[in-house]
Amino acid sequence: MKLVLLGAPGAGKGTQAKGLSKELKLAHISTGDILRIAIKENTPLGQKAKRYVETGELVPDSLVTQMVIERLSSDDVKDGFILDGFPRNRQQASDLDNFLSGRNTCNYFVLYLDASEKTLIKRLSGRRICRKCQAVYHLINFPPLKEMTCDHCQGELYQRSDDKEETIKNRLEVYQRQTAPVVEYYFKQKRLIHIKSDDDAPLVLRQMLEVLAKPFSSRS
Ligand code: AMP
Repeated sequence: MKLVLLGAPGAGKGTQAKGLSKELKLAHISTGDILRIAIKENTPLGQKAKRYVETGELVPDSLVTQMVIERLSSDDVKDGFILDGFPRNRQQASDLDNFLSGRNTCNYFVLYLDASEKTLIKRLSGRRICRKCQAVYHLINFPPLKEMTCDHCQGELYQRSDDKEETIKNRLEVYQRQTAPVVEYYFKQKRLIHIKSDDDAPLVLRQMLEVLAKPFSSRS
């Protein structure tokens, strides 16, 4: 199965992609994670992407699309994948279609995670991440047992620089301007499955698994 997760920052794409990847045994491809690792390791890609990621702007298509195509060409994704964070604009969406149709594998679905702006802001501003194992917490909804310490590996928790208030605002604006039109693109292609994602993560995951188990005509 091939899935694209679409939705605003804070809609739950990363959390749900991890859950789906575990349940459905699919490779999880998160462009945000790949970029953050490249920045941390100070690779040439990381050096070019840093200022965009830190300010909540989109990294140029030429860099991101190439990165995704390389990843989609790997052996472990040939039986399926979950794309989380890509495409983020119309150009990326058509580049993805061109790439997949060139390989005769354009049979994917798009799960559109839709949450209210209040939920998005609350989730992003309270999110904390483990420096060591990348586990995700929330100060209110899912706090660690010991303050700012990971339950799994005792690593230190931190706040992503782009989860600070001023950058959250810009990320949501960028989403409205550049990514929201992709929802329409997929709706017209009849690939879109609409999922309300204001609820807690396990509930949303269950809904998605139920929807994916049905035939496509009765999914949305
Ligand atoms: P995310 O973890 O998906 O919220 O992504 C974090 C940041 O990485 C975004 O705010 C962008 O700066 C960058 N990024 C992730 N995916 C893309 C993409 N498909 N196109 C451009 N920039 C991206």
